[in-house]
Amino acid sequence: MTDDPSRKVDISRRRFLASLGTLGLGAAGLMLPGAAQAAKVKPDDELVTLHDLSKCVGCGSCVEACREANARKFPEPVRPFPAMYPESVKVEDWSGKRMVTDRLTPYNWLYIQTARGQFQGQRFEVHIPRRCMHCQNPPCANLCPWGAAAREDNGIVRIDPGICLGGAKCKSVCPWEIPMRQTGVGLYLKIMPRYAGNGVMFKCDRCADRVAEGRKPACIEGCPYGVQDIGSRTDMVAKAHALARNMGGYIYGETENGGTNSLYVSPVPFDTLDAAATTGPGKPHLSPVRDMMADEDKLAYAALFAPVAGVIAGALRLGSRLAGGGLKETKPGARPAPAAARPAPDDETESLALPKPGRDDFNLSLGPDRKTDAPTGKPGRPAEPGEGGK
Ligand code: SF4
Ligand code: SF4
Ligand code: SF4
Repeated sequence: MTDDPSRKVDISRRRFLASLGTLGLGAAGLMLPGAAQAAKVKPDDELVTLHDLSKCVGCGSCVEACREANARKFPEPVRPFPAMYPESVKVEDWSGKRMVTDRLTPYNWLYIQTARGQFQGQRFEVHIPRRCMHCQNPPCANLCPWGAAAREDNGIVRIDPGICLGGAKCKSVCPWEIPMRQTGVGLYLKIMPRYAGNGVMFKCDRCADRVAEGRKPACIEGCPYGVQDIGSRTDMVAKAHALARNMGGYIYGETENGGTNSLYVSPVPFDTLDAAATTGPGKPHLSPVRDMMADEDKLAYAALFAPVAGVIAGALRLGSRLAGGGLKETKPGARPAPAAARPAPDDETESLALPKPGRDDFNLSLGPDRKTDAPTGKPGRPAEPGEGGK
């Protein structure tokens, strides 16, 4: 309870905006952006991936597994690229740099970020597999004007390449700027190549097709060290807290941006990791993130625009199907059985028998005798090889 009248007005306005979004649901039909779906999702239905960073050695097997499993989803752009209007709109072409693995690109949806530094008088080297966080209330899905980005009931956030026009709204509102654009591919080429977008946005879809078949995501299956686990939100949050307690560690993702379905547990605080890691385009930060959708302007936009975006998405999807595009592997909104994708006890034995993580034995490389080139702050941002290149 509060006696502050301005707070009461604020809460009433939020409820009003939220109710507008709800009222629009019936009209929108089909696949709705995340804001409109959020009310239907029970937290326990969401699948969460949990990374135990004390186990990751940075071998990159997960990155290779991801690239192999998702290669057929990667873009094949058509040249020459249409001239864009206004001319300030950038071409983003990663098709000649498909082998880049040290950052996120349209062809690399997972990379290993490494942080080296000192914590409590000891040197550390922590490897962090980075990809989409699959936010519980994702601004990318809530604010996509075309309804191309959507959150599914199992917590996966996907971008439909068949209807994405590459306007990059999802990237600009994502707290980690995860989605990556490839020019010269997608529906915009068939609509108004000069005026309607600039390609398609790509990011981790948490192996939605594999998950729908009851299989684990490729990066989880491909890790020889059992770094990741997957299961219901309730189980994974409890496991994250137990892990953090055991190692005297820290959790990232549980509350960031209002909560995400990718959790990290680290023996080193995340602000220390963030300061020590290289961040910038394609290399997401590890800072605390407030709930972006709590911002009143965004809430209003989502509530008022979600129904319209849903209708547009339906129309674009129909057009895309006629043109032979769109998601094919699983129906948007289809919910796989979480239990099927959850590792059975036997699966957990697949990981190597490593010592139970503790303050002194976390990560293989902790110790004062290790060389480190840890920067004291964030290094300068390197030139963008794909962004803006012709
Ligand atoms: S998550 Fe596993 S596969 Fe990926 S880099 Fe770490 S140890 Fe290697
Ligand atoms: S991390 Fe960014 S791209 Fe991924 S779901 Fe959240 S807002 Fe969307
Ligand atoms: S969940 Fe699938 S798409 Fe996402 S990073 Fe892992 S392998 Fe790649």
